[in-house]
Amino acid sequence: MDASLPPCPFQKRFPSQLLRDDLFFMSLAYNQAIDAWREDEVPIGCVIERDGDVIAEAHNTVEGAHDPTAHAEMIAITQAAAHLGDWRLSGCTVYVTKEPCPMCSGAMLMSRVKRVCYAVPDPKMGCLGGATNLNDLPRVNHHTDLQIGGVLEADCRELLQAFFQLKRTAPAQTTEGPESDRAD
Ligand SMILES: [Zn+2]
Repeated sequence: MDASLPPCPFQKRFPSQLLRDDLFFMSLAYNQAIDAWREDEVPIGCVIERDGDVIAEAHNTVEGAHDPTAHAEMIAITQAAAHLGDWRLSGCTVYVTKEPCPMCSGAMLMSRVKRVCYAVPDPKMGCLGGATNLNDLPRVNHHTDLQIGGVLEADCRELLQAFFQLKRTAPAQTTEGPESDRAD
């Protein structure tokens, strides 16, 4: 899609299907992030698990969809709700390669996910522990369990940092800035 940005230098992961732990699902989210990069999108990926199965997986498509709400998490939440036929994502765990922004953090509380596991904390825009924590709102009627960082964190961070580094050094083509708010 973009001739000026070098191809993604990172490889997808092939986690064993036998151990369906946090690392397994985060690896799938990481693979989604690589798909995002290959479409010249900020490399963020998301997977939603329920009862050991993946019921949604998506990556950021803000640029291609011309949609500021097309974050990986929003798309995955919509997919998961459609799959379950219920807006309540009870019993679901969201795996995402970077801490959710205000919009996505809000959507996770609104959809009542059981647990959120994110790889890279975001002190700038993250709203589940980084910049602030919506999960701590005193009167919110649903709280989610949080796994903050530590699962494939270094790999997911390296992917994001490399993407922005290449973007900065690549010949200018689209110079809209706001995406740099997402992860840097
Ligand atoms: Zn978001």
